Amino acid sequence: MSEVEKTYDVVVCGGGVSGSVAATAAARLGASVLLVEKHAFLGGSLTAMGVGPMMTFHNGAGEQVVRGIPQEVVDRLMAIGASPGHIEDTTTYCSHVTPFDSEAMKQVLEEMVVEAGGTLLYHTQLADVETADDRVTGLLLCNKAGLTRARAKLFIDSTGDADLCSRAGVPFQLGRPGDNASQPMTMNLKVANVDSEKIRRYVLDNPEDFAFENGREIGLRRLQRARRLSLAGFYRAWRAARESGEVSVPREYVLFFETATPGVFIINTSRVLGKNATDPFDLTMAEVEGRRQNNEIFAFLKKHCPGFENAIRCDSASQVGVRESRHVRGLHTLTAEELREQVSFPDTICRGAYPIDIHSPDGASVNTTHVRPDGAYAVPYRSLVVGTPRNLLVVGRCLSATNEAFGAVRVTPIAMAIGHAGGAAAGLCARGGCDPVDLDYGLLRETLLEQGARLD
Ligand SMILES: Cc1cc2nc3c(=O)[nH]c(=O)nc-3n(C[C@H](O)[C@H](O)[C@H](O)COP(=O)(O)OP(=O)(O)OC[C@H]3O[C@@H](n4cnc5c(N)ncnc54)[C@H](O)[C@@H]3O)c2cc1C
Repeated sequence: MSEVEKTYDVVVCGGGVSGSVAATAAARLGASVLLVEKHAFLGGSLTAMGVGPMMTFHNGAGEQVVRGIPQEVVDRLMAIGASPGHIEDTTTYCSHVTPFDSEAMKQVLEEMVVEAGGTLLYHTQLADVETADDRVTGLLLCNKAGLTRARAKLFIDSTGDADLCSRAGVPFQLGRPGDNASQPMTMNLKVANVDSEKIRRYVLDNPEDFAFENGREIGLRRLQRARRLSLAGFYRAWRAARESGEVSVPREYVLFFETATPGVFIINTSRVLGKNATDPFDLTMAEVEGRRQNNEIFAFLKKHCPGFENAIRCDSASQVGVRESRHVRGLHTLTAEELREQVSFPDTICRGAYPIDIHSPDGASVNTTHVRPDGAYAVPYRSLVVGTPRNLLVVGRCLSATNEAFGAVRVTPIAMAIGHAGGAAAGLCARGGCDPVDLDYGLLRETLLEQGARLD
């Protein structure tokens, strides 16, 4: 087996938004950083799985609660015309959403890591983890060079599925307790040449055919001035199509979002139930089922939905969208009650305000618990610290949270904010020669505040 020549301060495994931001944050604090990613680009769910828009940087009252490096990503996208920034959510599910161009997202994340001095390694998958004396001593990576060992002082698991943690023996909960069922997967579908104005007129004329989570009046007001559309509905036609067997998708409505490019939409509607994202055979069948459902959905849109008549189907996402898999058990397991009560922690490292949003593992529904519209809930640093191995942190959607709390903090802006904190923690540990469990979280919080994060 070959060795990666250099021993890095930090190896980040997984280049989704959380890992990309973590790598940037660690490198900005002077750490030598290697970011390993199995795809040939960064962004994870937002690029490989076709997810969008980012939802949400704001609380229900419209106050921005996620800042710091995640906001810098938005600023950079806006500077190159690849995002309209934070705009009102016309579904009213959130106060604001943030559409973006996925190709630009790949470039912006990449630029940020490289500018900070980080090293990228694409086309590379984590194969195994070596541990000794309560520490990770190396990662076995699999790529065109065969098996290669990478060594570092500190490791960050940002694989979304906690691949690194699970192989290092860290306990985890797969999906929900009891039956391990996870939120369904969705193969996102991107379509172009959609007539947004025609959709807007249809919704204004048929508002009862759409869901407005927090009030139809607010939704219609927002719709009239919206720069991009977010909508859930076409209830009548969808219900009829499900009853007649024209579509067999276990979902209660069509959910769709306009991207940064007017007339290009993400259709987040397919629903693959009962699959385990950590089982490669299940994952493969989920790809097949997701594409099959998208054939039905695309035909349905063109036939029944005003504005979609001339839609053109783009490539499907490179992989099926995985909402949920393993939840690591770290020093603190974040709970839904702590989110609802907006509990503040001495080691709060970021805030969020997205609702507890659980796509049912059992059927067509989405169960939502809205948190208080003002204020924001907190994520503690201890939910990123696994304890043993001592030199391992976890960021992004697989952090230490119950499956319910995960339903809220899984979304992109919060995943990035968690990545910011985890990367900064690793950078500070590398600088101070300590392990994440021993890091002074006063220092971490000070550093995050200096870097523009919002903690209170
Ligand atoms: C269908 C769907 C719809 C969603 N809708 C929204 C939405 O509208 N708005 C929103 O904000 N959020 C949404 N989310 C949630 C959000 O996109 C993700 O939870 C968030 O982006 C997670 O980021 P992450 O970096 O933690 O993980 P991921 O994005 O999953 O990134 C993990 C990265 O690690 C890499 N990786 C994994 N395993 C390995 C390995 N063994 N070796 C090497 N690399 C590896 C992957 O390729 C990937 O790049 C949605 C998610 C899904 C699936």
